[in-house]
Amino acid sequence: MNCDQARPLLGAYHDGELEPALRDEIATHVAGCQACAQALARHRLLAEALRAHAPRAEAPAALHDWARAAVRGDADAPTSAAPRARSGWLYAAFALAACVAVAVGLAPQLAARDVLARDLVAAHVRAAVTGHVSDVISTDQHTVKPWFNGRLDFSPPVVDLADAGFPLEGGRVDYVDERTVAVLVYRRNRHPIDLFVWPARRGAPPLVPATRDGYQIEHRVVAGMQCWAVSDLNAAELREFVERYAGHFQTGR
Ligand SMILES: [Zn+2]
Repeated sequence: MNCDQARPLLGAYHDGELEPALRDEIATHVAGCQACAQALARHRLLAEALRAHAPRAEAPAALHDWARAAVRGDADAPTSAAPRARSGWLYAAFALAACVAVAVGLAPQLAARDVLARDLVAAHVRAAVTGHVSDVISTDQHTVKPWFNGRLDFSPPVVDLADAGFPLEGGRVDYVDERTVAVLVYRRNRHPIDLFVWPARRGAPPLVPATRDGYQIEHRVVAGMQCWAVSDLNAAELREFVERYAGHFQTGR
């Protein structure tokens, strides 16, 4: 992991939102990188300042009184109120600016992860609802893998995981994240698992929530591919599935 990959994730890291593997990578990077450690410290200070100060409500009331007195040129307005109110106003302005800065900084990240999670679950549900789950139906990885040739500009890693309780059932092409992707279709008992595969781009992928609309989502990078598993299977078994899948290619078996 380098600085470009670590930097956009520091907020999620600070808030404890990262999956364990990614969290460990960030921790390792920050431990050895002064620039990112300082960026993380700034994040922490800002978060603490917001937590300590943002929810207070006295400032707007004081501002209201002070502004009204100032506009009227009210001679009756207690002179001692102005400095106190002004500090409240500055304080409110600072809190607002800090909130805006945080919101602007996080908005693209949040949007990207929500869009991707929505796309993945939508594609999974659409396939089930329309009955268009597999274009090629086979439990044989040597049939499924070549089927993608000519349909995609990359070759997804395919393995049958029947011996681990996740038999391969087939594959299809689908459209996610504004591109055509491979989908490997597996099954655990009666639960279908869609594994969406496409080449990993530079930089870290957006972190999507682990669940959406009752579906579990798991992510791994395997052999240079982004792999997103989506299923109504429980979280532990879906995690076991992606670990088996990833493990097969990592050990080069
Ligand atoms: Zn760094």
